[in-house]
Amino acid sequence: MSEIRTRIAPSPSGFLHVGTARTAIINWLYARNKGGKFILRIEDTDADRSSKEMVDAICESLKWLGLDWDEGPYFQSERSELYQEYIEKLLTSGNAYRCFCTPDELKVKREEARKNKTDYKYDRTCLKLSEEDIQKKIDAGEKYVIRVKVPEGEVRFDDMVYGKMVRQGKDIEDFVVCRNNGRPLYNFVVVIDDYEMRITDILRGNDHQTNSFKQILIYNALGLPVPRMGHLPLIFDERKKKISKRDKAANASDYANEGFLPEAVVNYLSMLGWSPKDDREIFTIDELIDVFDIKNANKSNAVFDVVKMKHFNSEHIKKKSNHEIATMIAPMIIQAGVYSKYGLETRWKYFMDVVELLKDRAGVLSDFIERGEYFFQAPHTYEEKGVKKQFNAENAERLEELANRYEKLSRFTHDPLYEALKEMAAEIDVKAGILIHPTRLAVTGMTTGPGLFELLELIGKEEVISRMRTAVIYIREKVINE
Ligand code: GLU
Repeated sequence: MSEIRTRIAPSPSGFLHVGTARTAIINWLYARNKGGKFILRIEDTDADRSSKEMVDAICESLKWLGLDWDEGPYFQSERSELYQEYIEKLLTSGNAYRCFCTPDELKVKREEARKNKTDYKYDRTCLKLSEEDIQKKIDAGEKYVIRVKVPEGEVRFDDMVYGKMVRQGKDIEDFVVCRNNGRPLYNFVVVIDDYEMRITDILRGNDHQTNSFKQILIYNALGLPVPRMGHLPLIFDERKKKISKRDKAANASDYANEGFLPEAVVNYLSMLGWSPKDDREIFTIDELIDVFDIKNANKSNAVFDVVKMKHFNSEHIKKKSNHEIATMIAPMIIQAGVYSKYGLETRWKYFMDVVELLKDRAGVLSDFIERGEYFFQAPHTYEEKGVKKQFNAENAERLEELANRYEKLSRFTHDPLYEALKEMAAEIDVKAGILIHPTRLAVTGMTTGPGLFELLELIGKEEVISRMRTAVIYIREKVINE
């Protein structure tokens, strides 16, 4: 079998969209699974809507996802001469023709069809022009588009995902491949590029199915071999709407900032186009490459669910070593001003213990900061619902007493901390939880978190007692007096 060559062809009119990221992942997995090549092509023929910044951003996102490409990026904007050669070929072989009909003329015809309730299709007025007429019009400076002359017979292909696909040529309009400013259009350039880049397998979103028929007509018209084609389900949001560029989940470039791991994103997004035969969901990248099979591509539309992606992310976080996580979150902690670089470097062991404690509960990397800030600094505020429930005169006294007992401990570790609290609870005849909740709130500012005694041990005696006493003062001054 010849070498498998797939590609991703983003248009740089925006950031890497989630749908394009998913399609890139599927093409990449397909190529890597078969030892083939993955090619990056930038579809920037629409100069007004393309920008260098977006090209850079797209490349950065692909790199971040780990989707390394073997060739490219190729830029369509640099290949105009090539397209022109093929346009000439289409014209000389009689498979395409110049159409001089003006937009206004076409509008009238379209209106008429609408009134008569018939489907509009270009009526081939210009196909009837003689060579002489054509030359005259060209000499007179009349503008023209180029249309493919669509033959009547069937157009068919074997979709790698959906199976046999057929359309009747007579139902397809003689479509335009080149605008009246000489600029060739997507369906045409994509064929030339895919042929010239020796692409063997094209996998793209379902919204391109109609285009695929047109592209096959162009391959046929030029006498070029048609690559394998497959269409992937579209991605919708939770309200079953197509994910638009404005959606929060829309841009893969945001995922890094939101604390997702690239392998988790690749794992999750790949499942929006494909699923393994068994029930497994969580795969490393190597495992994905290994088990990927386009035969298992999904046919029904997929729903992007950020909660599910967080679940994938938390599973991938658990697979990482504490050191790896610490290295990833250190810059975030420093940037958020939670702790200094020097502090982290000198207390690296402590930092890794913190990671260990929070690891099981983190959905995204930023959770380590949002839910773990108190490991690095005393709480600035206390969670409101906790204050209402826990911060009262009675608990102020209890916290004061517990702090005194904790002060006397010679070993400030899990078991003695637990024993001391349990003993006090028994003495005042309350359940341990009655003391645990206000203590957690006093030390962390939060109502939930990892096991209390583990975190007290980690934060350390002096700091814990100081925070408990601060909370006592806070309760007496702020809560009770207000
Ligand atoms: N630029 C097109 C897109 O982003 C590429 C489609 C294709 O893969 O042919 O949808």
